[in-house]
Amino acid sequence: MAGRAQADEATRGLLTITFDDANWTQYRHGLPVMREYGVPGTLFVISGRANEAGRKQRAWGMTWAQVAEFRDAGWEIGSHSVSHPSLPGISDAEIVRELDTSRADIEQQLHQRPVSFASPYGDYDARTLSLIGDHYANHVLAWGGTEGRNRIGDTDPGQIGRMQIDLRVDPEAVCAEMRRAAEREIWLVLMFHGFSVADAGPYETPTATLRDIVVCAADLRDGGHLNIVTLRDGMAIAAAH
Ligand SMILES: [Zn+2]
Repeated sequence: MAGRAQADEATRGLLTITFDDANWTQYRHGLPVMREYGVPGTLFVISGRANEAGRKQRAWGMTWAQVAEFRDAGWEIGSHSVSHPSLPGISDAEIVRELDTSRADIEQQLHQRPVSFASPYGDYDARTLSLIGDHYANHVLAWGGTEGRNRIGDTDPGQIGRMQIDLRVDPEAVCAEMRRAAEREIWLVLMFHGFSVADAGPYETPTATLRDIVVCAADLRDGGHLNIVTLRDGMAIAAAH
């Protein structure tokens, strides 16, 4: 692997895996799989939910200690607002509060300044993009745009596309996308919500599907075809190219 690993990183495909919301299923079912294969990603935290989780018995959101386990596994921690509102529907001042307070919460709890933001529900417009751009270097879309197939060297950091992975996704098709990314210098960014073991909800991914996708990604990485990075590091590579 040594020779190939020394090849120009930007001439390979890039893969970034993102989890939105920081909910307990991502901690319980997602993190162990990612850790097992040494695959880092970016976790977008709803900071108000993480604050709340520490005070509840069976919380929907992860506690800050659980979020810190992602950080310690090499993950980037990004912001997904404080209270998950649809940003185009609220005032400038309210948007700034969502952007500022979530960043301060993450910084205080994890001692790491977040530089990436995911809009709740994927909702944005020109006004919200401009405010987000004042506070965060990177912004990911939930759908639309490049649908997750970003061109290395030609990616707008304010509108990084993502491919949504849910119940209906065939892991073989995602594996084929990753192989194409490796061949065509694409930065593929995947977006996951929750994970389930049995009955998956409409936005959830069966944990077995996540495992199949991660196994394929790790194989491509170990073969020197794909570089798996956080969103922050992916954008840095894409911008330098
Ligand atoms: Zn969300």
